[in-house]
This record gives sequence, structure tokens and C-alpha cells, in this order.
Amino acid sequence: MPLQPLIDAAAAAAAMADIHPPLSPQEARVEAHRCLFCFDAPCIMACPTGIDIPTFIRKITTDNLTGAARTILEANVLGASCARVCPTQMLCEGACVMLDLEKDPIQIGRLQRFATDHVAANRIDVLTAPRTKDAGRVVVLGAGPAGLGCAAELAQLGYAVTVYDKKPAGGGLNTYGIAFYKMRPEVSLEEVRMIERLGVTFRYGVELGRDMQMSDLERDCDAIFVGLGLGGANRLGIPGEDLPEVVDALEFIEWIHTQPLASVPLGRRVAVLGCGNTAIDAVTQAKRLGAEEATIIYRRGAAEMSAYVFEYDLAKTDGATFLFDTVPVEVVAEGGHVAALKLARTVVRDGRVEIVPGSEWTQPFDLVLKAVGQEKQVGLLEQLFPGLTLDRRGRVEHDPATMRTRLPKVFVGGDAASGGREVVNAVAEGKKAARGIHAMLTGRAVTGPVQPSRHGTADGAIGSGFNHPIRVHELEAALTKG
Ligand SMILES: Cc1cc2nc3c(=O)[nH]c(=O)nc-3n(C[C@H](O)[C@H](O)[C@H](O)COP(=O)(O)OP(=O)(O)OC[C@H]3O[C@@H](n4cnc5c(N)ncnc54)[C@H](O)[C@@H]3O)c2cc1C
Ligand code: SF4
Repeated sequence: MPLQPLIDAAAAAAAMADIHPPLSPQEARVEAHRCLFCFDAPCIMACPTGIDIPTFIRKITTDNLTGAARTILEANVLGASCARVCPTQMLCEGACVMLDLEKDPIQIGRLQRFATDHVAANRIDVLTAPRTKDAGRVVVLGAGPAGLGCAAELAQLGYAVTVYDKKPAGGGLNTYGIAFYKMRPEVSLEEVRMIERLGVTFRYGVELGRDMQMSDLERDCDAIFVGLGLGGANRLGIPGEDLPEVVDALEFIEWIHTQPLASVPLGRRVAVLGCGNTAIDAVTQAKRLGAEEATIIYRRGAAEMSAYVFEYDLAKTDGATFLFDTVPVEVVAEGGHVAALKLARTVVRDGRVEIVPGSEWTQPFDLVLKAVGQEKQVGLLEQLFPGLTLDRRGRVEHDPATMRTRLPKVFVGGDAASGGREVVNAVAEGKKAARGIHAMLTGRAVTGPVQPSRHGTADGAIGSGFNHPIRVHELEAALTKG
């Protein structure tokens, strides 16, 4: 059956309301006063942008919300979106010493939102940049979190920056891909406007590799930053994959961000293939927008899924169902539309997934969302930069301290460099690359915040999350093994 909207505007707005609503001024004050303002605050080490969290929280306790927002945005220009989308359990809040005291961690993300909402609502610009941009010219490819982090830092250092993006608006996945109940596109678009006010120029609707080649750009610039993210969904390689109701999960999420919620076309029985965070976002949003059944199908067991446990719990609470150890072998059509999936049981032997012979069955579905990983933009990167080196997983090779690639003028950051992490990592890498570009062009380094940590870092107990971010669960696993 063709897809169609399933719920009305009021129901859609309620179903997609903020999952973590803003704190009231009273709640924010109480929460800020719980903070112990640690001298060796581990939360700073666990924030990849190294925000001085105790300082901004202390400013909230004295009602200095503009100052709090300045502390946040000077470290992380996308502090408003990170406040909503960061997996804080894995980052700052997961490192909070309150957990050692067997208390709830300080709600750092929600306090960060409280402060950044204040400056956005009151149209206060806390960041400033020189009006005359005479330090040099830099081209930024991609207006996602990585490109924005790089552009904002360079503008503040006095560079003339032009950002190119194929989409009609900036923000990358922050604008088009994050689950709607975590963040509205308007928050991301407001961040882009703030960066425009720093003097950055944006050129939208320009697809690199199709509308423009690097030879058109590189002659007139001193450095190039590549923040092109990842490509579309990997192919399944099964019969029926090209039917109209087999859709890339990212494209489905983009429908939600680019049209009224009540007009998003949906199926009554939705299958989501894959079990990473994108799959969870897709299944949860399908369920919230009225799908009667929404089922995750994953070829391995629950223990091997890449989705965070708290995202998995959310999907279960929303009524999604999970078929583990199962693969689709065919999309079955009726009258040219998706009618069902032929599925088979799997078993993992020596790390490889094998189909159990004779285990096939057919289950009705009318929409199939593919969330089996995003392709790397290997072809595009090789076309744009023939000398660039990529590792065997398609990530651009670079020096992690400066984000410089093998090509002297070319820097990289975000998902194109990491293969896919989080918004906060992308914005941090963009900023690091901007500092790398500045050091290359002037020979002068911009140094970041320095913070002693009880956890220590690979190079000793000094630094901040910006230099050596710790991941709480990785650290805990290492400590348990040790
Ligand atoms: C569905 C989904 C949900 C996610 N949810 C979260 C979350 O809740 N929290 C979190 O922290 N992270 C989340 N992430 C991860 C996060 O969105 C990414 O890590 C982050 O956006 C990476 O930033 P980036 O700038 O490298 O890439 P992107 O955000 O992908 O930006 C790349 C930009 O490059 C542009 N571009 C690409 N190719 C071309 C071209 N040829 N010409 C011109 N422009 C081009 C694109 O239009 C885009 O604007 C999610 C990711 C996905 C896919
Ligand atoms: S940016 Fe993210 S990780 Fe850093 S303090 Fe804010 S919510 Fe935590």
C-alpha cells in the first residue's frame, strides 16, 4: 500500500515533544547548587570540547546566565545543540563525582540548555569576531557540526571563511538528522545564524564534485577544511530493495525535519533494518508518528548492537519490538509496493553471521527503513582530492593533534575523519582543525584550557577533554580489566 500520514497535527506535536523539557529557573537554580564545583572536575575531561562545566554552573547559581552561556559557547559554539543531543551518560554526566557518592549526576546537559536558551531567547551575542577579516582565506566544505566548529573558530581569529554545502540550509545532521524529540531544526538553524553574525559566508545548494571542483576553489584560499560527513545508507543487496517503500532511514528522518509532522508519510507496519542509534531513532519516530507496529530487525544478538542501552530502552518504552538474530533475505512486493519481508534466522560462528538453513518465514510490512550503516564518501573524496589518503575503512587519514591531512593545505574533521561519532566530537575536531590551520599559516599556536583530572590522561594528568577526551564507559572497562 502507498505510504500516508497516520496522525493529526496535535497528536504528532504531543508525540514528538521535547524528551528532556527545559528546566524552570527554580529547577535550574536548585540543580546548579547541587554541583560540588570539583577542583579536578572529571566532567571537563569527559567533554570533547572541554567546556569548563563547574565555572558555567557556578555562574548559574549567581543568575549570571549570559556569563554562563559565554563560558559554554567560547569552548563549544554548538553548545545549544550539544545540550540537547549529547549522550551525556557517556560523557560529562557519566563522569560526575556524584555517581561515586551514589547520587544522581548533575544534569549538565539541561543546565547547559538553560544558559544557552537564555542568550538565544534574548538575542544576546556572546561571541565576537574582528570585523575585518585579513588573517587569510579559508574554504570549508560542509556546513555540518564539523564545518561550523571550524568556521566559527577561524572567524574569531580574523579569517575570511566561506562554507559550501549542497543542502538548502546549514547545520548538517543537526538540522536534518537528529531525532525530532531531542532537538528541533530551529535550534540548529539559529546556531548557523549566530555563526553568520561572526562574519562567515555560507553558499548553499552547491554540490561539490558536481557543481564545483576543488580547482575552482583552491587557487584563492590559504587552506581547506573537509567536513563532508558520511554518505547514504549501505545497500542490502537483496531482491526487492529498489521498491518505493524501501527507504534510507536518514531520508525518512529528513522527511520529519522538512515538512509538517502530520504530513509525514508512513506505513502501518514498519521494519527497521539494523540496530545502531540511527535505527533506534527511526523506529522510535515511526512509532510516535502512528505506526501500529515498528520492528527492529538485527542479524546479531542484543549484546552486539551498537545502539546505546538508554536508546534501546527508549525504543522499547515507545512500543518498538526487536527481532534479534534475524536477517531479511527478500523484500516481497504486491502490485509494485512492499507487502512483506522474507526473513531468516541467523547464527554467529567464528564472528561471522550465517543463515540457519530452512529457517525462513514471511512477515507483513509496508515500509522498510534501512539503517545498516552509512557509506563513506570515498569516491567523492578521491575525485575532489586525488592525493588524499584514506584508511581501509574509508576515513581520511590525518594528524589527530592538528587534523591536517597528507595534503599540506587540507584539514579534515567530523564523521569524514572519524567514520561517525557524535556532534560534540565533530565540533571539537572542526575547532582543532581551525587551530591547526592558524598554526600552519602563522606559526603561532592557540592553546586550549588546561585542567588537572583525577582520572589522568594518556599523557599525564593535565589537559582538558578538548585535548584528550575520556569516554566514561571505555575508562571504566579499562579500570575493571586493570
Ligand atoms: C540519524 C542520526 C542520528 C544522530 N543522532 C545523534 C545524537 O543524538 N547525538 C549526537 O551527538 N550525534 C548524533 N548523530 C551523529 C552526528 O549527527 C554526527 O556525528 C555529526 O553530525 C557529524 O558532523 P559532520 O559535520 O562531520 O557531518 P554532517 O553533519 O553529516 O555534515 C556534513 C555536511 O556536508 C554536506 N555535504 C556532504 N556532501 C557534500 C557535497 N558533495 N557537496 C556539498 N556539501 C556536501 C552535507 O549536506 C552536510 O551538511 C546522529 C547521526 C545520525 C545519522
Ligand atoms: S557539550 Fe556535551 S559533553 Fe560537553 S558538557 Fe555539554 S552536554 Fe556535556
